[in-house]
Amino acid sequence: MTRGVYLDYNATTPVDPRALESMMTFLTSEFGNPSSTTHGWGRRARQAVEEARASLALLLGARPEEICFTSGATESNNLAIKGCARRRARDGAGNHLVTTAIEHPSVLETVRDLEREGFRNTVLQPESEGRISPEAVEAAIGPGTILVSVLSASGEIGTVQPVESIGRLCRERGVVFHTDGTQAVGKLPVDVGRSAVDLLALSAHKLYGPKGVGALFVRSGVELDPLLSGGGQERGLRSGTLNVPGIVGLGTMAAIVSREMETESPRLRALSEMLWNGIRERVPDARRNGHPTECLPGTVNVAFPRVPAERLMTLLKDFGVSASPACHSGKGGTSPVLAAIGLDPALASCSVRFGLGHATTEDDVRKLLEDIGGAVHRIRGPGRRASAPAPGV
Ligand code: PMP
Repeated sequence: MTRGVYLDYNATTPVDPRALESMMTFLTSEFGNPSSTTHGWGRRARQAVEEARASLALLLGARPEEICFTSGATESNNLAIKGCARRRARDGAGNHLVTTAIEHPSVLETVRDLEREGFRNTVLQPESEGRISPEAVEAAIGPGTILVSVLSASGEIGTVQPVESIGRLCRERGVVFHTDGTQAVGKLPVDVGRSAVDLLALSAHKLYGPKGVGALFVRSGVELDPLLSGGGQERGLRSGTLNVPGIVGLGTMAAIVSREMETESPRLRALSEMLWNGIRERVPDARRNGHPTECLPGTVNVAFPRVPAERLMTLLKDFGVSASPACHSGKGGTSPVLAAIGLDPALASCSVRFGLGHATTEDDVRKLLEDIGGAVHRIRGPGRRASAPAPGV
């Protein structure tokens, strides 16, 4: 029985067989605790963790000691923002945070938690294509600003942010710059040196590694209060026995994407263009949400006017696509990201995100295009021709 074509790689990815293979030893014979370095089991686990740390550091342009392993990007974002804000406030640096309306809930809810602790914040609105302008960040920074958090790229609409310019201006003003790099790492070159990023969060399951493991890059000299009290692992930043198999899988994928991104990203970009051009031919009034060029390879978010996303997805039964990110699913209502870019709620409810990935082929895109054409025609009914493109919003 065929299970259809998975097109939700922004929500999560399957584990690459090469990552799985590297993990197996550490789920079976090499089960040591990397803190137990009095014996071989512990030392071999420690060595594997350090190798993974070095691979990930290389991918990010960081030093190995600047990588802190966590349980995923949710924890990394919490640690970065709460850890930095509490520490800097304690040092008397200020109590103001700047972030954006298009962040993942693990950033926005963290900022809300801090608001209840007495921190002030500014939440920036994006431009209509989802970009956060460096000028807006600059204008929001004031004397008490201690931290700016702007995501590297949106997993929902794909828009890539000008993190280099934002990082530079934060650096000039002595403000710590955090970026949620979860959707960018593995798809776009990331260089924490060039982009003046101080803190960067990522998650293994977005780059064909396992779920439940991630990392936070913490630039040397940036001080954070830990979230967890315990045995002081990860230089005291993140207590808890390390998830050795998960970390090994993440390290393997860091090395693989370093090599393969150069060919895989252009391939995904070409498939995305094929998909979007094919949609435009079949549904002339469709509009693409997000930035036309500054966009993640493999992300195509499209509004199909008068075609409710739920109905379209039901008819596209051979394809695993989503209307709103998995993290918001079940909560109902309009996507906060589509609302933030000013998309009309009626169009937002007709928007579907296609997330292309490793296994996606031209044949998949061709079949998807056929099915989209048929489904849109069925939902709109006979005799209702596509109207003129919706005005820009
Ligand atoms: N940030 C972004 C941009 C994400 O897309 C996600 C996952 N959807 C997260 C953070 C959270 O990652 P995790 O599931 O590893 O906690």
